[in-house]
Amino acid sequence: MISTMSDDSMTLHYQPLTDVQGKVVSFESLMRWHHQRRGPISPEAFIPIFENSRLIVPLSRWALRQACLDAVRWKRPLQVSVNLSPFQFIEDDLPELVATVLNETGLAPERLELEITETALAADSARALTALSKLTAQGVRIALDDAGSLFLPVLLQNYPFSKIKIARDVVSNIEASPSARSIVHMIMLVARSLHVVIAAKGVETGEQLAYLREQGCDLIQGYLVGRPAPIEAFAAVTGNTSADFAPSATSIPRHVEAFMAHADESESRAQG
Ligand code: C2E
Ligand code: CA
Repeated sequence: MISTMSDDSMTLHYQPLTDVQGKVVSFESLMRWHHQRRGPISPEAFIPIFENSRLIVPLSRWALRQACLDAVRWKRPLQVSVNLSPFQFIEDDLPELVATVLNETGLAPERLELEITETALAADSARALTALSKLTAQGVRIALDDAGSLFLPVLLQNYPFSKIKIARDVVSNIEASPSARSIVHMIMLVARSLHVVIAAKGVETGEQLAYLREQGCDLIQGYLVGRPAPIEAFAAVTGNTSADFAPSATSIPRHVEAFMAHADESESRAQG
C-alpha cells in the first residue's frame, strides 16, 4: 500500500524471512500507525489501545485484507504472514472471514500464513482448535509466534502448526546465555521430530545466525537480514516495478478511523 505519510494513516510494512542462504521466502506484514502529530507509533504502543476498545478486531480484519491484496500483486508468489489478535478467535468466525478475504482478493490459500501466539489459544482452546483445523483444511498455513515456553511439545501435538517462530528474547540471548542455547536446541528437537518448519525471530548478529544454522534452523527473520519497510523497498525481491505497486488501499473501517481521530483530539487536549 502506498501512503503519503503526511496525515493520520495506518499502513502495512513488510519484513522478509530468508532461508539460511539468505534467499527471501516470505514476508510478515506489520502494522504502522503514522499519527498526525506524534509521527510513527509502534504497534507495541498502539495495539493495547485498540485491544482495550476491541477495535483490534476490525483493524486486524483490515490488515488481513490489505496484506492479501498486496501479496496477490507480487510477481513472485512469495508467502505472506499476517498476525492474528487473540480477540479475533473470540469475536470473529475466522475460517469464514479468511475464506471471504481469499475469495475477494484472489490470493491462493497456500500463500497465506496466520501467526498466532499461545495467548490466542488460551482463551478458548476448543474453539481455537476448531478454527485452526478449518483454516488448515482450506490450505492456509498456521505459525506459532514467539515459541519458547515449556508447553511447546503439547502445543505442537494438539494444534496444526506448520511453522514455529522462536521468540526474539530467546534468540537475543544466544551468545550470552547457555540456557537460551538449550531452549533453541530443545525447540529444534521437538519441531524436527514433528516435521515443523522452524524460524528464528529478531536475529541481529552473525554469531546468532551461525548458531541457528548449526542447529538446523530453516528460516531467519531479523535486522541482520532485513528490517520492516514498505513493500516498495523490496521490489527487487517481489519482482515488481514501482508502477506495479500503484495504490490498492482498502479503507480502514469508519469507526476505527473515528477512533484514531479521537485519539488525536484527546492528545491535543492533553497538550493544550
Ligand atoms: P511480532 O509479531 O513479534 O513482530 C516482530 C516485531 O519485532 C516487529 O515489531 C519487528 O519490527 C520487530 N523486529 C523484527 N526484527 C527485529 C530485530 O532483529 N530486532 C529487534 N529488536 N526487533 C525486531 P513491530 O513491527 O513493532 O510489531 C510489534 C508487534 O505488534 C508484533 O510483534 C505483533 O504482535 C503486533 N502486530 C504488528 N502488526 C500486527 C497486525 O497486523 N495484527 C496484529 N494483531 N498484531 C500486529
Ligand atoms: Ca509475528
